[in-house]
Amino acid sequence: MAFIDSHCHLDFAEFDACREPLIAQCQQQGVNQFIVPGITLAQSHSLISFQQQYRAIHIGVGLHPYFMSEYVAEHLNQLSELAHRYRSQLIAIGECGIDRSIANIALQIEIFEHHIELANQLELPLIVHHRQSHDLIAQSFKRCQPKFGGVIHAFSGSLQQAQYYIKQGFKLGVGGVITYQRAQKTRQVIAQLDAAHLLLETDSPSMPLAGFQGQINTPLQLPLVFEQLCQLKQLNGRDKQLFKQQLYDSCSALFCI
Ligand SMILES: [Zn+2]
Repeated sequence: MAFIDSHCHLDFAEFDACREPLIAQCQQQGVNQFIVPGITLAQSHSLISFQQQYRAIHIGVGLHPYFMSEYVAEHLNQLSELAHRYRSQLIAIGECGIDRSIANIALQIEIFEHHIELANQLELPLIVHHRQSHDLIAQSFKRCQPKFGGVIHAFSGSLQQAQYYIKQGFKLGVGGVITYQRAQKTRQVIAQLDAAHLLLETDSPSMPLAGFQGQINTPLQLPLVFEQLCQLKQLNGRDKQLFKQQLYDSCSALFCI
């Protein structure tokens, strides 16, 4: 049974010189499918042809709050047109969300709720970015309820917050963060959750694992995230294999891949 990297930016320039051999090497090591999210309108456009080149890559389209400075009002309509036209190539809407470290929260909320509506129209799950914004995301979910679930990418938060998202039909993205001792709270919360509620991700090329700081992160590290997760959950032998299978099923069921 293989791994799916449920969140990696394999289209980024960091991978231009090594993309093909890297994907081949990942597949040799059992990481054989990849979900690449959209972050801007222009990049979401180029993901459509990117996806056509690689059978192992699945994509979402979306406007990430990091790129608020590039955002203009027409982008939402254009994103919606793009998503409708290429619906058959998409497995998600996102990455979208709310980030308190970035200015213009009111506009971020408006854009996020448009993404939820778009996902509902197209019957797709959401890839959600959060930073210090669980309260705002919950308020958006109240106004505009996601109908096809999704993933809270790079989840960090309390058990209560995790359970709230699970009730809303969401899974929690688990990546390199859990390899850091300082992430005690997140490690403890994740350790208490079943595989059905978790997705493995690397967020490559960002989020290097502990011990790999300063290096470009790649999906080759996904098995190490899995190993760390098994340690936190104290799983061994057959239980580990079963857990791996459950994580795969959890991801493939959410995104229909
Ligand atoms: Zn990302």
